[in-house]
Amino acid sequence: MRATNLYAPTLREMPADAELISHKLMLRGGMMRKSANGMYTFLPLGWRVIKKIEAIIREEMDKAGGQEIMMPILQPSELWEESGRWAAYGKEMMRVKDRHDHSYSLGPTHEEMMTALVRNEVRSYKQLPLMLYQIQDKFRDERRPRFGLMRSREFIMKDLYSFDKDVDGMNISYDKMYKAYQNIFTRMGLTFRPVEADNGAIGGGHSHEFTALTEAGESVIACCSKCDFAASDEKAELKAIVAADEVEEELKKVSTPDAHTIDLLVKYLNIPIEKTIKAVAYQTETDELVLVFVRGDHDVNEAKVLHFLENARELRMADEEAITNAGGCPGFMSPIGIKKGTKILVDLTAMEMKNAVSGANEVDTHYTGVNPKRDFKDVIVADIRMVKEGDPCPRCGAPLSLTRGIEVGQVFTLGEKYSASMNATFLDENGKEKPLVMGSYGIGVGRTMAAIIEQLHDDNGIIWPVSVAPFEVAVVPVNAKNAEQLKTAENIYKELKSKHIDVLLDDRIERAGVKFKDADLIGYPLRITVGPKAVEEGIVEIKIRKNGEIKLLKQDKYVDEIINLLKEL
Ligand code: ATP
Ligand code: MG
Repeated sequence: MRATNLYAPTLREMPADAELISHKLMLRGGMMRKSANGMYTFLPLGWRVIKKIEAIIREEMDKAGGQEIMMPILQPSELWEESGRWAAYGKEMMRVKDRHDHSYSLGPTHEEMMTALVRNEVRSYKQLPLMLYQIQDKFRDERRPRFGLMRSREFIMKDLYSFDKDVDGMNISYDKMYKAYQNIFTRMGLTFRPVEADNGAIGGGHSHEFTALTEAGESVIACCSKCDFAASDEKAELKAIVAADEVEEELKKVSTPDAHTIDLLVKYLNIPIEKTIKAVAYQTETDELVLVFVRGDHDVNEAKVLHFLENARELRMADEEAITNAGGCPGFMSPIGIKKGTKILVDLTAMEMKNAVSGANEVDTHYTGVNPKRDFKDVIVADIRMVKEGDPCPRCGAPLSLTRGIEVGQVFTLGEKYSASMNATFLDENGKEKPLVMGSYGIGVGRTMAAIIEQLHDDNGIIWPVSVAPFEVAVVPVNAKNAEQLKTAENIYKELKSKHIDVLLDDRIERAGVKFKDADLIGYPLRITVGPKAVEEGIVEIKIRKNGEIKLLKQDKYVDEIINLLKEL
């Protein structure tokens, strides 16, 4: 490709409306443009990167046994009614009607379509296992589309679905995908961690998110400083922290005027926050009151509470009336004295506290000398808090640290969730009819591109790994008006092309400085500068983008060196 034929409008200035560096550099580097809120057009350079990312994904999916198909984006509402998700998916699903008034979703994901596809034709265990995938646009009407490709409303996703005859088979498919994902993200030069993830409303099964580590990410993950435990902050399981033994004091009411928050309470009584018990009152979508208690410095993990409640899907802050009806006093709540039959959840660590302070269910009053094991009656004790920096690892006890990252992919076991509700069954070895056992596995293609840039850039621009670079090498004649320089550059360009190297010839009549800046900004792994030395002495200058190193090589040696460098970078 010659730069004079390439549509790559680079920008000198940083675009003001972009927050993340990946978003800025993609716009500045002429890789994409915004079309509408949360929607983007890929320009030739950006699209080349996307195609290379997709090619790596394809290779690894195929190697793991996946078969590529292509499904329509529009999905009939009837299928979603069958699984129950037409109502449950909510506002994130974009919906359209055709001229006959039939409703469709613009597919946010394809579990229903895939299940419907196989249920008519997979009849016997002999046809299993089966893995089908596609790479295609998905639509989600995100509440806050932002950060460019990171959270957009139309985005490219690879989604694979596995079908097995039993749970063991499903777990084998899951492991294959897990390994394929490790290969994919490693090949793209990402620093990432597979982390144990919450699998939302799916329940029962397990899930991992593949998280590219970077401060710019929206996900928070807890990683052990000693063993390989890593989990998303919502998922991270926690064990009880047992407070040091103390002689148990009597329960005593103390006056605490206006101390209706933990901060005010700590100040008023001048006690460590670790001695206080915090209350949060929720109501579920069926209005059931759920009172949750954690240690004062801890936060309630609503995902864990929801899992625990099983039949609830949503939590909202409880109405004052509901709290008082149950015998509680907002701002001064305690499990002591709450009406029997009220659901009370106490965190494992809160339950192990000694001589703590909690509300007394009376205005401006707290109890001191609270010993939950002695004083809390009819409560459910469970792991319901958010992980905190320094918490002990649930596996080995070493301190956990919290880091940020970008979820680039996720793998789920689905079990029979879709096959049972959508009646996708097969006959097993004994002729018995059973629901297919499924898994689903997604990768955000555009988000992965953004994550790579977040990790691999410097002040001058992007530093692409060779595997996904828009071009592997840029050949830059210093002065394209000089016929001899241009000719030498053309010869190098042609020679590299003949060796199947993905090369761009920057034949634009521009100042050398402008072309060098663009090469750094766009981030080609290698730049070959063709100046007077190349013409007169046959010396070729290679610049390695990653470390700025410059190599001067004789013309008869440079091709082998480039081939070697491309293997290393
Ligand atoms: P998030 O929690 O970030 O909203 P998700 O868990 O809902 O994502 P999945 O349903 O697991 O997303 O989708 C699979 C992959 O698709 C994600 O791992 C992510 O890489 C990508 N993805 C999801 N939503 C978006 C989006 N709005 N824009 C770009 N990529 C997305
Ligand atoms: Mg996800």
